Amino acid sequence: MSNASTPYPRDISVRVYPRSVSGTFRRIKTVILVLAYTVYYGLPWLPWHREVGPDQAVLFDVIGRKYYLFGLVVQPEQIFWLAGFLVIAALLLFFVTGIAGRVFCGYFCFQTLWTDLFFRIEKWIQGERPARIRLDESPWNASKILKKGGTWLAWGVVAFWTALTFSLYWGDAGDLVARFFTGQAPSAMYITTAILTFTTFTMAGVAREQTCTHMCPYSRFQSAMFDKNTRMVAYDRARGEGAEGRARVTRELKKREQRQAAGIGDCIDCGYCVQVCPTGIDIRDGLQISCIHCALCIDACDTVMDRMGWEKGLIRYSSEVEEAGGKVKWFSLKNVGYGLGLLLATAVLVWSVMSKPPLETAVRQVRQPLFVTVSDGSVQNSYEIKLSNQTTRPQDWRLSLKDIDATLDTGNIDTVHLEPLKHLLVYAKVRQAPGAKAADKVRDFRFVATPADKTLQPVEISARFYRP
Ligand code: SF4
Ligand code: SF4
Repeated sequence: MSNASTPYPRDISVRVYPRSVSGTFRRIKTVILVLAYTVYYGLPWLPWHREVGPDQAVLFDVIGRKYYLFGLVVQPEQIFWLAGFLVIAALLLFFVTGIAGRVFCGYFCFQTLWTDLFFRIEKWIQGERPARIRLDESPWNASKILKKGGTWLAWGVVAFWTALTFSLYWGDAGDLVARFFTGQAPSAMYITTAILTFTTFTMAGVAREQTCTHMCPYSRFQSAMFDKNTRMVAYDRARGEGAEGRARVTRELKKREQRQAAGIGDCIDCGYCVQVCPTGIDIRDGLQISCIHCALCIDACDTVMDRMGWEKGLIRYSSEVEEAGGKVKWFSLKNVGYGLGLLLATAVLVWSVMSKPPLETAVRQVRQPLFVTVSDGSVQNSYEIKLSNQTTRPQDWRLSLKDIDATLDTGNIDTVHLEPLKHLLVYAKVRQAPGAKAADKVRDFRFVATPADKTLQPVEISARFYRP
């Protein structure tokens, strides 16, 4: 009988040998794992038809300064979308963490996903937890070299393909792979692949849970987002320990009634929850910085409770409020604030993407000199007008003036022809005759760009005209 004793590693520097477990949360994690890998490894190979541009669904063309995301083409002018996306990601993280703790760590973080895969590879080759412990304790021989070497080789292949896949997002995937293996790829690709292969292998295969515990900054400040209503993986101490602590199953302490009569709790001190933990901790010791909230200990304990014929949930998602017998307040001021911020930021980003104009414009007035007076007495101002085609179709535009009694001179350019996703700089002179109406010293007016394509709307560009 004990309150705290456990034969399993509590010191995080001790190597962890996670045991397999099945259950609801394991299934959820597996589904997320498969989806995440399918997306990550598959996206660079997904074809996508465009009138111009690559036939690849997702491609970040740094040299061409264009980022292709399915039907969307992001140009440097829209880089603020990236800022918006990062704000949304941060708010989502705060919102979810405030409600359900480290869900991101337990289910979605790259480190968790890749470590999970590397654990599986280790298990496929070296066997279940006891076999792996025995293998590590045994002297080096042919079998050990084969199993350890096979594991490292498989990890190396996964790490390499992970790293190579990252590079494929930055160019034509098929072409890059062919050039990579024939020694004709850019040196940046070889360097990136080498660095990422090394870091993936090290983080997911060697450092594993140490990355979460010692290197990840998020584990340090995540508790600032918790409150009494946050649901976290927790051990029901009152039920598990009873009045006299926990105890293993013996002939005298087999049935629940026997245990309750002796003041013993429902925890049979089997250690299964500790054995399945990927970070090697004991959830019965309370909330710990190393706990990534993967909920595998819930599956483990539920399996044990099932076998004993007792109610599940000795380890479960719970909050401080629930433990004290209260009801969770989902809509605390903090969560509502995060939620509203999230909705607002998402709405603004979606609106900004959906309302992306087919033509981006900018005008810059030539200021040296601000104006010139021509020999016939007319006054002339000059402008540089940037017209940028944001679509994947060619466009033709004609320029004219509005709100000013003046003439427009764009040299030989009658119609501005813009290739898809290209821009042009038009040099425009606006000239006002001596007797022009309302010849103020400073006058606001507009350039009007009228499309040849009637499905598009004319675009007005504000500018200012100066006179002596
Ligand atoms: S204690 Fe439980 S929830 Fe926390 S990391 Fe270990 S297995 Fe996952
Ligand atoms: S799995 Fe459940 S019963 Fe077994 S040691 Fe953990 S908390 Fe106790």
